[in-house]
Amino acid sequence: MPSRARVLVVEDDEKSRRLLTDVLAYHGYDVAAVGSGEEALQEARAAPPAAALLDIQLPGISGLDLLAALRDAQCCGSALPVVAVTASVMDQDRKKILAAGFDAFISKPVNIRELLKTLHELLTRADK
Ligand code: MN
Repeated sequence: MPSRARVLVVEDDEKSRRLLTDVLAYHGYDVAAVGSGEEALQEARAAPPAAALLDIQLPGISGLDLLAALRDAQCCGSALPVVAVTASVMDQDRKKILAAGFDAFISKPVNIRELLKTLHELLTRADK
């Protein structure tokens, strides 16, 4: 895993966004945090991240549509590791999210240890 891996955090709730940003920055990540899919695409095109964490319920572009846009060749490419972060705990929602192509699913409230472990695994895998 590259040191200071850049992680794009997309979360419209300011408190959650700040929490994720602080935790990831504390653990050595270079965090780019935004509140919408539109901003996420701008950010990702300007400086492609090593991984992304997407809230699914966003104003404007949904997390599911954003996933496809980020994986687009003109943005970050199909290998970009992307984690869904969502309050949906229904089994069918979970299946829909994984079927959409997310690499992992983390439910809210976010378990920090689980988040760090998932991110680390995806980044080490992506590095090979
Ligand atoms: Mn949200």
